[in-house]
Amino acid sequence: TLNSKDYMDYIVAVNQELNEKEEYITNLDLATGDGDHWANLHMGFTKLTEEKERLEAMDLSSELKEIGKIMMAVIGGSSGVLYGSAYLHASKVMKDKEAIHKEELFEILNAMLNAIMERGQAKPGFKTMIDSLYPAVEAYKATLEEGASVEELCKRVAAAAEKGAEETRNMESIKGRATYQSNKGMGHLDPGAVTMALQIKVLMNKAL
Ligand code: ADP
Ligand code: MG
Ligand code: MG
Repeated sequence: TLNSKDYMDYIVAVNQELNEKEEYITNLDLATGDGDHWANLHMGFTKLTEEKERLEAMDLSSELKEIGKIMMAVIGGSSGVLYGSAYLHASKVMKDKEAIHKEELFEILNAMLNAIMERGQAKPGFKTMIDSLYPAVEAYKATLEEGASVEELCKRVAAAAEKGAEETRNMESIKGRATYQSNKGMGHLDPGAVTMALQIKVLMNKAL
């Protein structure tokens, strides 16, 4: 399970992972977009890290809502609006919850996926962050239904996200800046899918 403090520990851990991958992520967005994806996320996660004490004192639903507001205000770019919507939707699913159990974490990820698809008018296969989140949600559902251990669940969900991100390499972009490239970004990973997979990996690590 995850409580309010665990969730902020997760946010801080993502911030650290992002800090180690500045060049890699910036280069991904330089190849198919405008090069700011790392900087956008960095601003958001740094602000959230600074607000850790205030946020972790909240109940989970309020915390997720506040994270969404901060992301929307600070991250900027397409990803700011998309992550902001994702967290606002997730907060509604979490009403009156003190801790997230494994079934609820599925509900959260599924709410985030639906919010992003709706807000971005995008589906799986469009070469976006959805391409790592969608397979992760699918894997989560299948593994839950199987009744596998939490450890197995976390491992499979993280692996599905990573595989999904890798598969964006051979996709033609249908939404986002890579659509402006003459080759639609073919041969390049989608930066948003890579950073989504990174977040899912860290989350699954914390959820164990
Ligand atoms: P911007 O493209 O505005 O500079 P970022 O660089 O922060 O914003 O984020 C780019 C990422 O956002 C892309 O790699 C892609 O994963 C994601 N993205 C862009 N447009 C959409 C969309 N319509 N739906 C879902 N994800 C999108
Ligand atoms: Mg960009
Ligand atoms: Mg931009």
